[in-house]
Amino acid sequence: MQEARRIRELPPYLFARIEKKIEAAREQGVDIISLGIGDPDMPTPDHVIEKLVEEARNPENHQYPTSVGMLAFRQAVADWYRNLYGVELDPRREIVTLIGSKEGIAHISFCYVDPGDINLVPDPGYPVYNIGTLLAGGESYFMPLTKVNGFLPNLADIPAEVARRAKLMFINYPNNPTGAVAGREFFQEVVEFAKSYDLIVCHDAAYSEITYDGYKAESFLQTPGAKEVGIEFNSVSKPYNMTGWRLGWACGRADVIEALGRIKSNIDSGVFQAVQYAGIAALTGPQQCLEEVRRVYQERRDIVVEGFNSMGWQLEKPKASFYVWAPVPKGFTSAEFAEMVLDKAGVIITPGNGYGNYGEGYFRIALTISKERIREAIERLRQNLGKVEF
Ligand SMILES: *Cc1c(COP(=O)(O)O)cnc(C)c1O
Repeated sequence: MQEARRIRELPPYLFARIEKKIEAAREQGVDIISLGIGDPDMPTPDHVIEKLVEEARNPENHQYPTSVGMLAFRQAVADWYRNLYGVELDPRREIVTLIGSKEGIAHISFCYVDPGDINLVPDPGYPVYNIGTLLAGGESYFMPLTKVNGFLPNLADIPAEVARRAKLMFINYPNNPTGAVAGREFFQEVVEFAKSYDLIVCHDAAYSEITYDGYKAESFLQTPGAKEVGIEFNSVSKPYNMTGWRLGWACGRADVIEALGRIKSNIDSGVFQAVQYAGIAALTGPQQCLEEVRRVYQERRDIVVEGFNSMGWQLEKPKASFYVWAPVPKGFTSAEFAEMVLDKAGVIITPGNGYGNYGEGYFRIALTISKERIREAIERLRQNLGKVEF
């Protein structure tokens, strides 16, 4: 039987070709170093694991949780926002628990997008913004993120007739894949834009705590008026090394949070309560783990940036996220360069076009493997790449 149009028409998986090559190389016993996937390699803090084990033994946690999450977890999120950002949130009306923020990012389009509606989506960007839009029957209008604009979308370039039809605008700072950061000024512009076109802003803050050199990211919700136009997604995944646990949240404008909760109550039954208790331990317990995470990624970032610059690149050190976004040398497309690096050096990098057309000409490096392996990857590149030009 033919599959439904909504999944038949999903964009082709761009990494399929390179994944086949990776598999073949591994089968031949090649020692592959992956700088591809961004998934924290450090363990979840012990006190969080202990809380899970304790709560897993409590039969009260063995039944269905509520789809919007325990009030105690939402309260912990509210306290975390007050402590870190000075943002006040009502845990009952302004926070919904998610099965990782990816789940909410995918479902928010189901709340607002009818067939023919438009969402504004960054390019390059986290693929789920576009996929969620398409699954809801909508269309993405891609906002280019270019180096000259500091990888911020230029809102003045969005045609008025597109903005009038737009329902949601996705933004993401600190940014995946570019590592760019945004300040209050940009967020203020976004709030004004959203007000004048009556659209909802969805800020993805997955990397809010992964910051370097003393830089501190702002929450979108710190911007005056932000809570009237939008929501922010975040999760315990990146700050607390908990990607496998599947626990996140959305917070902000109350009617949007309610709508997301309503969709969820019809689709899923929320997050295992023992995991929510563990999440409370992460958000409210000792926070030194954040310092450690920042220190480790910052050291790896420096090795990567200094290593590539010694081969001819001119990269700046990103202030946040665990990615380095770099141009491919002259004469290569992103995919060709990624394949060449795999063939010659056994190193996996992510071709930038996997994140959108404006990612063409770039590649992404993830800092989620040990510094010893990163050093080895760079040494292999140095020996195999020859002289690179841009
Ligand atoms: C990792 C990531 C997420 C999702 O993480 P969850 O584990 O689902 O909370 C969301 N947005 C971006 C940009 C990410 O890189």
